[in-house]
Amino acid sequence: MPTLHLVVPCYNEEAVLAESCRQFVELLEKLIGKGKINASSQVVFVDDGSRDKTWLLIEKEASRRSHVTGIKLSRNRGHQNAVLAGLMASNADVVITIDADLQDDINVIETMIDHHAQGSEIVYGVRNDRSSDSLFKRNSAVAFYKLLAWFGVDLIHNHADFRLMSRKIIDALREYNEVNLYLRGIIPLIGFKATTVEYVRKERFAGETKYPLKKMLKLAGEAITSFSTVPLQMITMLGFIVFGCSLLVGGWVIWTALFTKNAVPGWASTVFPLTLLGGIQLLCLGVIGAYLGKIYGETKSRPRYFVERTVTGLPVQDRELV
Ligand code: UDP
Ligand code: MG
Repeated sequence: MPTLHLVVPCYNEEAVLAESCRQFVELLEKLIGKGKINASSQVVFVDDGSRDKTWLLIEKEASRRSHVTGIKLSRNRGHQNAVLAGLMASNADVVITIDADLQDDINVIETMIDHHAQGSEIVYGVRNDRSSDSLFKRNSAVAFYKLLAWFGVDLIHNHADFRLMSRKIIDALREYNEVNLYLRGIIPLIGFKATTVEYVRKERFAGETKYPLKKMLKLAGEAITSFSTVPLQMITMLGFIVFGCSLLVGGWVIWTALFTKNAVPGWASTVFPLTLLGGIQLLCLGVIGAYLGKIYGETKSRPRYFVERTVTGLPVQDRELV
């Protein structure tokens, strides 16, 4: 029977924590009772530097429930790093990552475990219905997948970070030392047998989203620059096109000078290429800058997070944390 750790990143989740903790622990007890997972299975809450009472609540839950572990990061490091901290701290045979807000359907966790028992190393939770999302979020998600596919990056559609990973996968993940980690892109690269389970994503149980538009755009940019160099190739293409155009304009200027009386080219034909080229150059510099910034970040290879404190209902071996 595998030991299961449910890794739950939490940022300012005081409004939902008690309820999600109750539901997660109940689920673990049910699965333990059914003999599907080991009795030492845990819910591992990772407090991502919350400013509210999240950590106090985690401590409280850990002090009264044996299946609760808490990891407190030294400050807010973002959702992906919080998930990673939980994964790296875990020594379980199987880990399932899930959001704290009960949007993901915990009833499919049993199916995930069954898939794992049948040999899957990864089980992706895939939403088959996005009706609980705002119109904007739904459309931007579709546009995002299309854009990424165009850039040559194939993601599992409608899958966020609700997934099961076996020990094999977590050990493989340790080999990826990228500072800007985009788990949804990395996990499929690892390989091994993967399956999906479908579920309906609900509304947030309480509290509000911790993923405002700015963070969503940052994650999208992360996904593109971490997995695709197509934007750089596009710059080269653009360079060729602009070069071709400038040859044509040059030919036209020479022709005008030699064969017509309008030897002085007009204002428009001077100013237009100038502004056009200026714009294109700035655009290209921007794209190159984005990649350069990335290289800069990676070469410093700064630590991705620090664990400040750990509380646990049961002794869980604290693994080396990078
Ligand atoms: N989260 C986190 N750190 C952050 C932002 C979010 O750990 O900086 C957690 C948050 O507590 C939640 C999960 O990541 O458990 C997903 O966030 P949220 O539900 O706000 O995103 P949405 O579902 O609206 O995309
Ligand atoms: Mg949510």
